[in-house]
Amino acid sequence: MAHLELQKVAKSYGAVEVIPGVDFEINSGEFLVLVGPSGSGKSTLLKMIAGLEETTSGKILVDGQDITHLDPSARDLAMVFQSYALYPHMTVRDNMSFALRMRGEDPAVIDQRVREAVAMLDLGGLEDRKPGQLSGGQRQRVAMGRCVVRNPKLFLFDEPLSNLDAKLRAQTRIEIRRLHERLKATSIFVTHDQVEAMTMADRIALLKDGKLQQIGSPQDLYLRPRNTFVATFIGTPE
Ligand code: ADP
Ligand code: MG
Repeated sequence: MAHLELQKVAKSYGAVEVIPGVDFEINSGEFLVLVGPSGSGKSTLLKMIAGLEETTSGKILVDGQDITHLDPSARDLAMVFQSYALYPHMTVRDNMSFALRMRGEDPAVIDQRVREAVAMLDLGGLEDRKPGQLSGGQRQRVAMGRCVVRNPKLFLFDEPLSNLDAKLRAQTRIEIRRLHERLKATSIFVTHDQVEAMTMADRIALLKDGKLQQIGSPQDLYLRPRNTFVATFIGTPE
């Protein structure tokens, strides 16, 4: 688990300021859903936390340590994207163990971690298949497995369910929450879908034009929206 704190985290692309400065804290073990319309800055915020985009100003702290300008590989976190980005020529097992092998981890440890992840993600029997021989849902689980084997403190999900059909999306929501509990992780889950936010979140952070509109429990935002944007966004059925 990890405690994450954002202090006036801002992002400009050239002269264009897309995030003027966001402040929030995520408690250890919490599942936070970051929600907002397309273009509101959700991916940019996640990428700054992961170190995949330079933070223009402000600070990102994990367990009190300033990670704002740390190399991505030095951050103890894992990010799951919408596109699965699996290596097509590698088996499920090799895709999952890749990062650990690159790190020079002991083969016995790698084997153990992969076996645990395969069991946790219900991928038993598929270890020797290649991504092209898997369904969309199975590929997404392999992508999660690649993160799970690294045993990170912090999980970042960027709209991981967008490519799945409605039934699989509903099922995967539950699996992701279960994974979060089992790994005792701290998670940020990005979506533009308010139903996903309402059903998955411990707390929701609602973003618009790079500005935090409100952060609170689903009930809080539903019953006590701070402005009409929050009320409309949370209250409108899918
Ligand atoms: P979201 O994930 O909420 O849809 P993004 O974080 O992708 O939003 O984008 C936020 C804003 O930043 C958008 O206006 C987008 O056009 C802009 N943006 C994102 N990436 C870049 C980039 N590399 N260069 C310039 N502008 C960008
Ligand atoms: Mg995005």
